[in-house]
Amino acid sequence: VSFGYEDVAPDEKTRRVGGVFSSVAAKYDIMNDAMSGGMHRLWKDQFVRRVKPQPGEAVLDMAGGTGDIAFRMAARGAEVVVADINQDMLDVGIERAMARGIDGLSWSCQNAERLSYPDRQFDAYTIAFGIRNVTDIPRALREAHRVLKYGGRFFCLEFSTMTFPGMKEAYDFYSHKLVPRIGKAVAGDEESYRYLVESIRRFPPMAEFEGMIRTAGFARTRVEPIMGGLVAIHSGWKI
Ligand code: SAM
Repeated sequence: VSFGYEDVAPDEKTRRVGGVFSSVAAKYDIMNDAMSGGMHRLWKDQFVRRVKPQPGEAVLDMAGGTGDIAFRMAARGAEVVVADINQDMLDVGIERAMARGIDGLSWSCQNAERLSYPDRQFDAYTIAFGIRNVTDIPRALREAHRVLKYGGRFFCLEFSTMTFPGMKEAYDFYSHKLVPRIGKAVAGDEESYRYLVESIRRFPPMAEFEGMIRTAGFARTRVEPIMGGLVAIHSGWKI
């Protein structure tokens, strides 16, 4: 499997991705603002509007990291479990939740590829900017399908393929040249941001990823590109 520019064994990829997020955890939220010019907030708002979590619904926010998606869903009354493979990211999230006085969330260290939950537990499964870091994506999608109830929905927010012609070059320049520099300047960590950019470039195009979601068993799949495909929301239903 690929880790940035390198080919590595699957276990090694999982280990290195762990290293990346442990390294960026403390600066993760500041970096998101710095790199996206605050736009990640709008993408996350739009994502949660699409998920439409209802009061009392059980939602699994997978790869939930420091809680950005979970906080938005909890504000709508959903019962959210924030699950992530990286305890350092979860710890930052737990502190943020305490600082903001948000309670009612549960936090759980989980690998998306093998969840500890029984079948049919959740009304919705969300994963934002997480799936491309997972080593075995088809397996994680099958796990998402397994833990959803019938009638449950899957929503994924991820960087995708910019399709606006002139913008593509600008975006490539920004992501390959500037993002690692911002990473170095703000977080003192150039390598992690090189990996993050390369993992975006290697992620399958929208139609292909939608096909993977269907293969995992989801029906009525959809893709909604945002900003010319810079980011996309994929969704599907377990029926
Ligand atoms: N969802 C949050 C957000 O939108 O701000 C965090 C996104 S962060 C870019 C990606 C997260 O995916 C990291 O917290 C990382 O630990 C997590 N992750 C990577 N591989 C994972 C796996 N196999 N299972 C669960 N989480 C994983």
